[in-house]
Amino acid sequence: MDKDCIFCRIAAGEIPTEKVYEDERILVIKDVNPAAPCHVLFLPKQHSGSLLDSGGAIVGHMAEKVPEIAKKLGIDEAGFRLVINTGADGGQTVNHLHVHLLGGRSLAWPPG
Ligand code: 5GP
Ligand code: ZN
Repeated sequence: MDKDCIFCRIAAGEIPTEKVYEDERILVIKDVNPAAPCHVLFLPKQHSGSLLDSGGAIVGHMAEKVPEIAKKLGIDEAGFRLVINTGADGGQTVNHLHVHLLGGRSLAWPPG
């Protein structure tokens, strides 16, 4: 736990948030500033700064849970997008690994 990390503080229950799913390793929460009608974040409870130092197993665990969560949110049939912003050029603003799940509208490609 990094006490200066907002997602660690959310995972520790110090900051209230709308949880969509939780297990022993990850949390899925609603994004506070949604970029699409449906926008949730998958975050590991254990801190890692980005995909670069996450290992990879935890990303696999999050990916495994995506179908279940997409179904729960009602976006599995229409489709959705997963995004892992990494570093400055990737647009990462919170330095705790997280996966965006976006859906609920047709999403443009390529991203800006
Ligand atoms: P990034 O730009 O790092 O890929 O994404 C960070 C995301 O976290 C942004 O979409 C932002 O809206 C969201 N976010 C930042 N602070 C909080 C917070 O305190 N609670 C929640 N639920 N989302 C947050
Ligand atoms: Zn953290």
